[in-house]
Amino acid sequence: MYWTYENWIHKYARVHLANCAHCNDGQGSHGTVDSHAGRWLGPYEQLASASRASEYEASPCGHCSPIA
Ligand SMILES: [Zn+2]
Repeated sequence: MYWTYENWIHKYARVHLANCAHCNDGQGSHGTVDSHAGRWLGPYEQLASASRASEYEASPCGHCSPIA
């Protein structure tokens, strides 16, 4: 499963695998995700769906490197 983190302060979106330490099934990792700055979108079964989830251009997480 894939999750997309959308940050509307910095206007970016990042796609993660559900088991990524930064994603934690959409919970985020403590201290790294400010709920006032963005939101989690997902889960999605398809990477393509996660990539389209946000209005911002989504890039893959450098930590978990989601690949279709
Ligand atoms: Zn990740």
